[in-house]
Amino acid sequence: MHRRIIAPGVLAAASLLLAIPASAASYSPGAPGIGDPYYPYYGNGGYDVSHYDLRLRYQPKTDELQGTATILAKTTQDLSSFDLDFLLDVSEVRVNGAKAAFTHSQQHELVITPKTPLAKGTPVTVVVRYSGVPSTKSAYGFNTWHRTPDGAVAADEPEAAWWWFPSNDHPSDKATYDVSVAVPDGTQAISNGTLQSTASQRGWTRYSWRQNKPQATYLSTLAIGKFDITTSTSEGGVPVVNAYSKDLGDNDGAARASVERTGEIVDWLSDYFGPYPFSSAGGYVPNTTTGYALETQSRVYYSPKQFAKGSNVSVVVHELAHQWYGDDVSLKKWKDIWLNEGFATYAQWLWSEHEGEGTTQELADYVYASHPADDPFWTVEPGDPGADKQFDDAVYDRGALAIQALRKEVGDDAFFAILKGWPKEHAYGNASVADFQRYAEKVSGKPLAALFGTWLFQPSKPAASAGRAASLVKAGTAVAQPKSWKKIEAAHGGHSDGAAR
Ligand SMILES: [Zn+2]
Repeated sequence: MHRRIIAPGVLAAASLLLAIPASAASYSPGAPGIGDPYYPYYGNGGYDVSHYDLRLRYQPKTDELQGTATILAKTTQDLSSFDLDFLLDVSEVRVNGAKAAFTHSQQHELVITPKTPLAKGTPVTVVVRYSGVPSTKSAYGFNTWHRTPDGAVAADEPEAAWWWFPSNDHPSDKATYDVSVAVPDGTQAISNGTLQSTASQRGWTRYSWRQNKPQATYLSTLAIGKFDITTSTSEGGVPVVNAYSKDLGDNDGAARASVERTGEIVDWLSDYFGPYPFSSAGGYVPNTTTGYALETQSRVYYSPKQFAKGSNVSVVVHELAHQWYGDDVSLKKWKDIWLNEGFATYAQWLWSEHEGEGTTQELADYVYASHPADDPFWTVEPGDPGADKQFDDAVYDRGALAIQALRKEVGDDAFFAILKGWPKEHAYGNASVADFQRYAEKVSGKPLAALFGTWLFQPSKPAASAGRAASLVKAGTAVAQPKSWKKIEAAHGGHSDGAAR
């Protein structure tokens, strides 16, 4: 979680300063932000990307990354110039084959002016040649490129792409990927999707990965290091590829005892959420000093600290639940984060019940009872928490409580139909909290505005009467901490020790 201050007013002023060519009055610069109120400069306006082809070369000893990114996009307005989000050093940009002018601007904007303005609705090919040492680059005072003893990792939320490829960095512009990385022999490169090929030449080995389903930029991951890679197929037929850094030390056994359950958990979650949406599943555990896990698409990132206290299958459940809630169906704006974290946490509650370590009802009772009315926990609105509270405990715990309240309101039949139907309704797309409310109302036939208002948008503790109506409040009884609680909590983003997302 990285806090920064951006004044939205600066955005409009900056756009006006850029000159509009007199010869093409209708052509104007694409906006430097895609229009997310939490992060005004994230993503860009004027085009939509369909595919990223990243051809990279990385030297672990020096942290030097060289790359050529070929980006296929379509314009959504008449463009005189447009931005990509990127921090490394660019040596050349071509647009539709012709050399284009470029300059770095703001914190992470690469402003590209093509030789010929681009008409709305036309396909565009952008080639960016670049190099740099990602660990030396920062924006807003932070850097999310994680060095390891034998390489590096790109996996963070909401920012990770700026350090390794130029992009339209916002979840609302999803694209497919080919990521091909050359590393010194004996080192591996891990990314999303399926390993298409490996080839060695003159001391370098090239790993080529393909993600053939739309993927948000923050869910694109790259890990370079010395890994032990395991492959298997789940009982339900999903190919699984996992990778473990060879220097995990005492955490090695617990990491494997958790992540090797991936195939089993994918099949178990499929019963609730429908067929697994991607061509492969899996996770990797590099030797980073971070504390969190992240739902990087089809290849989950786990920090070794997640397994410092022993195995934790609950965090695997959380990150794999995101493959449906977050990755398959991605948020429209960052304020819709409840659609990711509320449901991934609720999946952990379902797993807790499955394991006999506390029912969803007991967990809901516990969340409600363990935060008194004056606890700031209740001031966070999971339905629109604000950028600085995006990964607050309340988004996870109160978020899951809201889902239990929904279940009580609509009944189990409608609830589980909603849970399974939602990923199908918005497969490989984007959706908002308001879209979810409309969908739940359609499936259940019940008006739900009051329920969503109380549990997602009220900046205070819902009254005991509301809790009782949702069967979440037991009168006058102390609520014991469910056995599963500590492992569920370990999958939260709001902790100062930087736990999972
Ligand atoms: Zn999460």
